[in-house]
Amino acid sequence: MIKHISVLPGDGIGPEVTNEACRLLETVGAEFGHTFSFTFAHIGGAAIDAAGTPLPEETIAACRASDAVLLGAVGAPQYDRGPASGRPEAGLLGLRKALGVFANLRPITVFPALAKASPLKDEILKNVDFLIVRELTGGLYFGTPRERIETPEGLEVIDTLRYTEHEIERIIRLGYETARTRGRRLTSVDKANVLESSRVWRETVQRLQAEYPDVELNHLLVDNAAMQIVKNPGQFDVMVTENLFGDILSDEGAMITGSIGMLPSASLGNGGPGVYEPVHGSAPDIAGKGVANPLATFLSVALMLRQSLGMAAEADAVERAVNHVLTDGLRTADIADIGQSALGTAEMGDAVRDRLRAAAVKQ
Ligand code: NAD
Repeated sequence: MIKHISVLPGDGIGPEVTNEACRLLETVGAEFGHTFSFTFAHIGGAAIDAAGTPLPEETIAACRASDAVLLGAVGAPQYDRGPASGRPEAGLLGLRKALGVFANLRPITVFPALAKASPLKDEILKNVDFLIVRELTGGLYFGTPRERIETPEGLEVIDTLRYTEHEIERIIRLGYETARTRGRRLTSVDKANVLESSRVWRETVQRLQAEYPDVELNHLLVDNAAMQIVKNPGQFDVMVTENLFGDILSDEGAMITGSIGMLPSASLGNGGPGVYEPVHGSAPDIAGKGVANPLATFLSVALMLRQSLGMAAEADAVERAVNHVLTDGLRTADIADIGQSALGTAEMGDAVRDRLRAAAVKQ
């Protein structure tokens, strides 16, 4: 199979981890008989430097023409001042909008070898394997008006939480569909005791339930969901929620695993190319040092292989290779125990590719 991947390295450690991910895909191609062609394009601060805008038209065109998009991270401190529309993060939000990827999927699992890195107790970590389905292109992050108004009484500031019923329905439907591919349990998270948008959300979840009688449904208010994620995360299978709640809860879920350097994500729309990226940001504090953990990007590659490229066996092989290096005790600095020696980004990449090749030879 030949597959075209747009690679958007972005800023900070983005180029370091996507470089390793491309090498990983080449190894997957060599072992399984596929060809991956890469088109590199700018996004974020790198795009501002190269083209004066965080999301050049050429980047959107390249992504639209590909089977999937692999993104590193955006964000550079030198652009943190100035209007939001000119910042690196605007590139990411704009890309999601341009590709119509309205759902962000974040698996939360604990690798047994890394259980010690989690701030939670061992007994709480048992059976943690859930997926957060977050709405990505609506709600408070996109609603207008969004402005500061100088009034005689002082500054007034407005953000707007806006959803259409269509936007709510399609993400909830995806939540139900995803639950069907897993443990058939769906937790819908809202704030229906306060917000009108959440009341429409809950009504929609309840209306669609008739179409998914095989999926067990429960509702949680977002504040309770935040508590349950640290109290008993093993109870969840699929959690579906709107943009802002999902942003916060998925980072909370991320911490269960111990390191943000381990977390993959997929952003999917209706049939177009999906965007696959690590959950972490551009990590300016370690950028250029060759120490970033590439495993979140590798696990994002596994999601890409499975969700967008129809390569489930290849995805399993990548995940097994990652698990293998961890059980062999190999660590990057962010997941190493105190005093334990740590591999750099490229060495970790080599180790995963070695395990992948060795496993493919054995099969
Ligand atoms: P961050 O995720 O970049 O870093 C948080 C901490 O985790 C840092 O100490 C960093 O060194 C560490 N870290 C992150 N990824 C790591 C990895 N792969 N290996 C080892 N350590 C890792 O979050 P931040 O510091 O809040 O944000 C930095 C910049 O990234 C900001 O400009 C922010 O806007 C941006 N950001 C971008 C995205 C994205 O592109 N999706 C997401 C979050 C933040």
